[in-house]
Amino acid sequence: MMCYCNKKPILVVAWIADNPGRRFYGCPNYWVGQKCRFFQWRDDEICERVKVLIPQQRQRIIQLEAKLAECKKREKVAVVGSAYNIFQHTTKLNPNIFIVIIKKSKSMFTK
Ligand SMILES: [Zn+2]
Repeated sequence: MMCYCNKKPILVVAWIADNPGRRFYGCPNYWVGQKCRFFQWRDDEICERVKVLIPQQRQRIIQLEAKLAECKKREKVAVVGSAYNIFQHTTKLNPNIFIVIIKKSKSMFTK
């Protein structure tokens, strides 16, 4: 299969309301600009139920990924915060621990 530019077509995913997630073959210059009009569906037609379901689930995934990213950010802050608290607490009790921590972190980087 070749497009009208005589190049191997690329697989593209349509995200329009009538064809959410339906794949088709298009000109490899599809995203570049100088594309030809080659077009061929790869997937079968999508039923009405799935046309509603796919965009809903896609939206849900986007929302959950945003929440996950926010949780990871908060977790990082919490870990750094508690590590700092432990560090402050232990160095108050025994200043030698501070030296041990420095030695250990130096050996981590020199290995
Ligand atoms: Zn082409």
